[in-house]
Amino acid sequence: MPMPNNWMPVAEPDIGELEEAYLLKAYRSGWISSLGEYVSTFEKSFAGFCEAEYGVAVANGTVALHLALLAARIGQGDEVIVPALTFVASAAAVKYVGATPIFIDCEPEIGTMSADAVAKAITPRTRAIIPVHTYGHPADMEPIMALADKHDLVVIEDAAEAHGARYKGRRVGGIGHMGIFSFYGNKLITTGEGGMVVTNNPAFVERIRLLKDHAMDPARRYWHEEVGFNYRMTNLQAAIGCAQLERFDEIVAKRQAVIGTYRAALSGHGIAINPVRPWAEPAPWLVCAVLPSDWSGAKRDALMVALRSKSIDSRPYFNLLCDMPPYRPEACTPNSDGDCAVARSLALRGLNLPSSTSLTKEMVSHVAAEFLQAMDNVASSGE
Ligand SMILES: *Cc1c(COP(=O)(O)O)cnc(C)c1O
Repeated sequence: MPMPNNWMPVAEPDIGELEEAYLLKAYRSGWISSLGEYVSTFEKSFAGFCEAEYGVAVANGTVALHLALLAARIGQGDEVIVPALTFVASAAAVKYVGATPIFIDCEPEIGTMSADAVAKAITPRTRAIIPVHTYGHPADMEPIMALADKHDLVVIEDAAEAHGARYKGRRVGGIGHMGIFSFYGNKLITTGEGGMVVTNNPAFVERIRLLKDHAMDPARRYWHEEVGFNYRMTNLQAAIGCAQLERFDEIVAKRQAVIGTYRAALSGHGIAINPVRPWAEPAPWLVCAVLPSDWSGAKRDALMVALRSKSIDSRPYFNLLCDMPPYRPEACTPNSDGDCAVARSLALRGLNLPSSTSLTKEMVSHVAAEFLQAMDNVASSGE
């Protein structure tokens, strides 16, 4: 559908001259496939950024999860604990390896996996936990790691939305046994399509490097002891990634400013803007607006339609994965709050607003004013 030229999308990549310069250098070098110096530079610098030992660049965040699960030897008959409120890739990768995702409830407001719900979901078949740093806010890793230690489980952080976020001072991604990132075009930093696994464990690195490159025997060309994949990142993508990483502080500062303006304009009206726990330094990914508790999903959707008529894009929060056909058989683990009641309420009241670094203070103030107007209109229309 053609959009009016004053259309304000939720997220646009912030790419400029540095990205162009590195990309052109990679292109002119002739190393346009997955060999080339930008790939190893990006791996090293991104791992360092995450305060982790190793980084392995891959084609996207979804295959990063797939490889992490394979490296942890998760498969048929295993259960993996996944938050119900997340992007589908967190659970799809569990299905790829033939394991069963067990969906659990989240923390109020911030929407990350509840450690109490993890404790209740552990069975003798549980092999791994995938905490997701949802919408850039770190999950409460300390109790999750303690449970993992106690029950000998692998923790794979899904940090696809949380580049640079800190949990109690530590960068996310390197806290669990492995962490995965996405560099899709709408993420905080991007390579167009791309992903990374970070870890401190050299055995995982070796396994992931083998599997992402057709499982070709490193000592014998065109010899394959098992079935592998082509999950490689190109040097062209890595060149963009190196530039994005150098510009990380600049991108974050601009996004923080956007969130700050929304917060000042909206939080006095019963709307939570990017709620934060005291121990967290979230990544300023998308602007998250959580409507008051008496708002229904239908009213939230009417609000989004009203914004759209003003050329303002918005997105609903994720739907609960356990409601969707491929994931339904593994229904939410019942807990004291009922079936993922916290996540269910949040999923219906949350929406993402225009978040790009290109937004000026005036533009954000305009969106905030239209948002309040639309809220009033929807509330008085009595839906
Ligand atoms: C974006 C995202 C992914 C997948 O990343 P792709 O690079 O798009 O494959 C995985 N998990 C979460 C939580 C995401 O938001």
